[in-house]
Amino acid sequence: MPTDGLQQTSRRGFLKGAAALATTLVAPGVLLYRSGQASASADRRWGLLIDTNQLTEEDVDACVGACQREHGWQVEDGSRTDAQWVRKVRLEDRESGHRIFLPMMCQHCESPPCVDVCPTGASFKRVDGIVLVNKHTCIGCRYCMMACPYKARSFIHETLKDQLPVAPRGKGTVESCTMCVHRIDRDGASAVPACAEAVNRDGRKAILFGDLNDPQSEISQRLRELGGTRLRADMGLNPGVRYQGL
Ligand code: SF4
Ligand code: SF4
Repeated sequence: MPTDGLQQTSRRGFLKGAAALATTLVAPGVLLYRSGQASASADRRWGLLIDTNQLTEEDVDACVGACQREHGWQVEDGSRTDAQWVRKVRLEDRESGHRIFLPMMCQHCESPPCVDVCPTGASFKRVDGIVLVNKHTCIGCRYCMMACPYKARSFIHETLKDQLPVAPRGKGTVESCTMCVHRIDRDGASAVPACAEAVNRDGRKAILFGDLNDPQSEISQRLRELGGTRLRADMGLNPGVRYQGL
């Protein structure tokens, strides 16, 4: 599928190119993330497989909405936010007019440049491949945002209140898709990220979560059978998010 019709915002993202986190108290009774190192297994590499053949534009909107509600980055009063844990990208074949819509979130790169450039170690990769930001040590320099070729991170400008325990967002820090790590740490291989939950209806699995290192997992089997595309594979970052139908 030609990418000529790629939306301007996503075009910029395309063209641009572990440390341990101790369990941390944000406020009494509110944990940042349960220690990735305590619950994560180095034998695993969590990933997502997104089948664009099964996704309509409305489905992708549903993904974004589910992520917003799950992590509290929705804007209900019309005020401005730059938050974009996941965004809708449109690919259009100019000749035929055929369009594909896909959700674009942090690709949870195996070799993440966002981690390489972070001066404080706040941007880090867990042993199970999930790439996160430690809100307590992020100094808001935004180097990681510049380094990310997928335009997957955003900066919190606004003063926040009523943050959710699973996503203790903070003004002056950077954020991105966590792969719904709180669900993964709770449910392991049977976890279903919020975006997947929003679109996997009636037996279909348009977004599949699973262990890329386990040859028996459903995600590995489907990749073996049908293949999967790494966005901008030429950059050699080996994303944990793969796409079908592109
Ligand atoms: Fe980092 Fe961007 Fe890769 Fe996510 S997609 S791991 S933010 S470089
Ligand atoms: Fe949002 Fe979770 Fe989906 Fe990532 S995996 S885009 S955090 S809902």
